[in-house]
Amino acid sequence: MDFDRAARLAKVRLRMASASLDALLISERENVYYFSGFTGGESLLLVTGERAFLVTDFRYRQQAEEELAAGCEPRPRSSASAAAAVAALVRAEKIRRFGFEEENLSRAAHGRLEAKLSGEKMIAAGILISGPRMVKEPGEIDLIRSAGERTVRILSRFREAIRPGITEDASARRLAAAFYRAGGEPAFDPIVAAGSHSSHPHAVPSARRLERKGICLLDLGGRWNYYNCDLTRTLVGGGYPRRFKTVYRAVLSAQRRAIRAVRPGRRASEIDSRARDYLDERGLGEYFGHGLGHGVGLSVHERPALNRRSEEILQVGMVFTVEPGVYIPGWGGVRIEDTVLVTEDGCRALTPAPKSLESCRLEW
Ligand code: ZN
Ligand code: ZN
Repeated sequence: MDFDRAARLAKVRLRMASASLDALLISERENVYYFSGFTGGESLLLVTGERAFLVTDFRYRQQAEEELAAGCEPRPRSSASAAAAVAALVRAEKIRRFGFEEENLSRAAHGRLEAKLSGEKMIAAGILISGPRMVKEPGEIDLIRSAGERTVRILSRFREAIRPGITEDASARRLAAAFYRAGGEPAFDPIVAAGSHSSHPHAVPSARRLERKGICLLDLGGRWNYYNCDLTRTLVGGGYPRRFKTVYRAVLSAQRRAIRAVRPGRRASEIDSRARDYLDERGLGEYFGHGLGHGVGLSVHERPALNRRSEEILQVGMVFTVEPGVYIPGWGGVRIEDTVLVTEDGCRALTPAPKSLESCRLEW
């Protein structure tokens, strides 16, 4: 997939100019890839009004020449430190003020760079740099949709294959292997949580065994061509205990309400409260302790955040998860998560796995 990186650079340069910055120093690997096409690590992209320099080291020299989009120039730094190489470029290009990614440039790296500058100002500009990534281009949406469909197939085959007695970590390894077999890789370590272990939102798979009766929570997502998706389903074996039915229906209704509320122009925080208020009304609000969702794209967790404090306004082309959950200590948890795309008139799920109460039954 060839993206129009010149157009992306043109857009970010407009933002840069309106913030009165002479340049942007891009450090997050995904952002470097987004703007330059370079897939290697430990490199910095300095974007000025006219040019874009990839400051990289010897190991990536050849790769930079092969991958860099038109308009980007490799700047292998031989023995100089990254800070010294960037400072030299800043001087040569007569840059006075440049933006940097405060979330992605470590304090130490920031300090090293600042020490090499001679009075030039570094301005926190993370939102300016990563903001454009929130709204996906059609080619990016195709890749996320395809990752979603493949992940749904992997989940469906996994459901057929697992049996009681297998441990959580063996199941998680099996899921991870399925992504590699399908030509991708796991977007993150899959979560498999059995029984009451599912009450931990970020359960780390353990030696606990899946039982014939009880909950099995699966959180998985694959990455193909650098794009991710994120999907959670909560399954149950041995019939539906009454409490499971009540909790599952509440979480599913909360998710549906939130999904129905998604449309361009709405606040992300409002979507969060649709689900949260509903669970509150059902007396389950205290068991839903995390945000409703997060953006998905080149990273599994990116902007926009969907939570109470989010100030983001939804736009057509944004892709994020909607994942309410109810976690009851000692009993277990239910989470239902889909990756969705904001459209003109609402949103569309990019992870179309079944999720009715009937569909969560494990036939074993
Ligand atoms: Zn997830
Ligand atoms: Zn998620």
